[in-house]
Amino acid sequence: MAIDVRLLDHSHDPVRSLYMAYRTCYSALTPQQVAARIAEERITREQMLTFVDERMKTGHVSPLEQVWFEFAIAGVSRAFSHQFVRHRVGISFEQQSQRYVVYKRGRFPFTVPDTVQRAGMSDRFEALMGEIGAFYEELVAAGVPGEDARFVLPNATNTNFKVTINFAALLHLADLRLCTRAQWEFRRVVSLMRAEIFRVYPDLARQLQPKCGERRMGYCDESLEAWERCPIGRKRPHKSRLFDLFNAFQRGDEAAAFAAANAPASGLAPLDAGDFQVIEEYTEG
Ligand SMILES: Cc1cc2nc3c(=O)[nH]c(=O)nc-3n(C[C@H](O)[C@H](O)[C@H](O)COP(=O)(O)OP(=O)(O)OC[C@H]3O[C@@H](n4cnc5c(N)ncnc54)[C@H](O)[C@@H]3O)c2cc1C
Repeated sequence: MAIDVRLLDHSHDPVRSLYMAYRTCYSALTPQQVAARIAEERITREQMLTFVDERMKTGHVSPLEQVWFEFAIAGVSRAFSHQFVRHRVGISFEQQSQRYVVYKRGRFPFTVPDTVQRAGMSDRFEALMGEIGAFYEELVAAGVPGEDARFVLPNATNTNFKVTINFAALLHLADLRLCTRAQWEFRRVVSLMRAEIFRVYPDLARQLQPKCGERRMGYCDESLEAWERCPIGRKRPHKSRLFDLFNAFQRGDEAAAFAAANAPASGLAPLDAGDFQVIEEYTEG
């Protein structure tokens, strides 16, 4: 089964909630008065979005915790899920159990990575899954409980989640997992979460970028080698290039500053839809 991500529910009006949260911090008005102004349409949606956008350029993050999104995520591997549940803050998980859900006739759903298919080894991969399934079935038939029979199941086994995540945690998840250093499956899941939010709140979805994006940290802090290999690296600067530029500028070395700013594969451009497609589809190997 292909990865399937659905936005099930979200804060009633995320833009209003974010505006209210930030405005409460920076206004002499009470939140009740701010809410009344919104209700009377004395503050437009554009004004709310612009205000939130400006505040998000600062390090004031906690108001973003006041908005939540609820997702159904299906058809992901246990290789993915081990990584997903490492995120501890601002996200709640429910995951399909391998104790209570016992696969019938040894048939368990699994994911075959594209790289295995490209290597021409998907037939052997699937045959091995069949063997594992047959042995799992034997174990279950011999009275081994599901919680122990599952010990033979591989990382490729599929699983499902219902998660709730607040907007601050989602931005952090995107920082790390839309980065091309993240595993392909994780990038796909977060790309699909982003696409789901794009359907309803495109202005909020645009904020979801890898950490190098112009709306986030703005530069790459991975190793220089990783940045050189990154398919979108030419769009965003590596931190070492920024320090080179700063040092050259401070020394008054114009030639070196020019060279640092114009080094091969250096760039400074906003990420666009094409970049997000690369992020979603890129696989190493
Ligand atoms: C490319 C990549 C490769 C990785 N490789 C490995 C690997 O080889 N092995 C491995 O074990 N993991 C690996 N991880 C997982 C990684 O170590 C983190 O567990 C995971 O990314 C969760 O990130 P987080 O802690 O930032 O997020 P969260 O757990 O959601 O935490 C969010 C933020 O809250 C703060 N925070 C949370 N808990 C604490 C705390 N106890 N004390 C202080 N501050 C806290 C931190 O600022 C943190 O960034 C990898 C992750 C990535 C993106």
